[in-house]
Amino acid sequence: PAARVASQRKDVWSIVNEAAAASEKEVINLGQGFFGYNPPDFVLNAAREALTRVECNQYSPTQGRPRLRQALSDSYSPFFGRKLDPATEITITTGANEGMLSAFMGFVEEGDEVIVMEPFFDQYISNIEMCGGKVVYVPLHPPAKGDTETCPASDWTLEISELEAKITPKTRMIVINSPHNPIGKVFSEEELRAIGELCVKNNIIILSDEVYDRLYYRPFTRIATLSPEIEDLTLTVGSAGKNFYCTGWRVGWLIGKPHLIKYVSAAHTRICFSSVSPLQEAIAIGLEQADEHKFWETSKEDMLRKMTRFNEVWKELGIPYTEPDGGYFVLVNLQKVKLPEDIEWPESVKDRARDFKLCWFLIKELGLAAIPPTEFYTKENEKEAENYLRFAVCKEDSVLDAAKERLRGLK
Ligand code: GLN
Repeated sequence: PAARVASQRKDVWSIVNEAAAASEKEVINLGQGFFGYNPPDFVLNAAREALTRVECNQYSPTQGRPRLRQALSDSYSPFFGRKLDPATEITITTGANEGMLSAFMGFVEEGDEVIVMEPFFDQYISNIEMCGGKVVYVPLHPPAKGDTETCPASDWTLEISELEAKITPKTRMIVINSPHNPIGKVFSEEELRAIGELCVKNNIIILSDEVYDRLYYRPFTRIATLSPEIEDLTLTVGSAGKNFYCTGWRVGWLIGKPHLIKYVSAAHTRICFSSVSPLQEAIAIGLEQADEHKFWETSKEDMLRKMTRFNEVWKELGIPYTEPDGGYFVLVNLQKVKLPEDIEWPESVKDRARDFKLCWFLIKELGLAAIPPTEFYTKENEKEAENYLRFAVCKEDSVLDAAKERLRGLK
């Protein structure tokens, strides 16, 4: 095998899903962030209808179906405060993930540096490295009292001076993720402005992963909108999967100025040519009809309600967690949970940090799966996350209630 894949260890998503599937107990899976319910009917019906149309079952243009680019322009132009050109400023990708890979492919040369905040969504790292890039990490510091008290995600902080110190002549890009996975932090306008200004000063491309952009519980700012100079350097990443509860559809997009989108699109064309056509059409219709169904308000309220409902159990158990500003994950500090000493750990977790063992223990003892977040840290800093697990709340209320009931077993 090529070194770029031979060096990849097994991804955490497969480890957890496989452990959950292999368990004797029926497992409630609050690990990987997939929804426990279907997309809304107006989107599902649009998909059914698209599947019956000849032109929807064939290749879409490489940049994406025109109707979807138009719908995105209509939906996002108001956020950007200007008319986004659907022909040159929006490109459709096979999930946000492939969109980000295409962005790295488009701009990162062998040996270029890309700054990523730690903790990070794991795919960034392999995507950057597969392009020959070098990842440079800058920490998001947990709140001082985070180990013992529930704190808002906004208390996790980025030190701008630390970020500045990481910039070298080789710095090509920075990845921002807001709302953040796994912390749930929504970056403030001041934080984003400081990052943006540094990028302008040093000519660094900003890849802003905003896939949870419709799920925020405090004011949300898009970095691209802060100044024309920042916008000139920013690629904004979006996801139909997260917006419309269909992570398996693999429809994502990037928005940016033509001089950036052009190269993302060129890379995307040579990676997968074009993305799933009928589902692009369905997402176009979803965006067109979202307002009349009051879908954005409802989906946000629903998720916040689920988050609050689920987190009651931590209050009950006296377990601290990070109160998310956005998204559908909650990071929980399970330091209090004692792991038995005489346990025989399976291969997949034997040599991993305590959170992997916690994860396995919860699957086995409670029939509940969550994600061990040291996967989102470098080996060097993984100690910081070894007492945490990340839970996804994008599930039916009855499933969340059943999960809570199992967690009460931790008492
Ligand atoms: N974004 C999803 C999560 O964090 C996972 C996506 C993936 O499995 N690659 O759960």
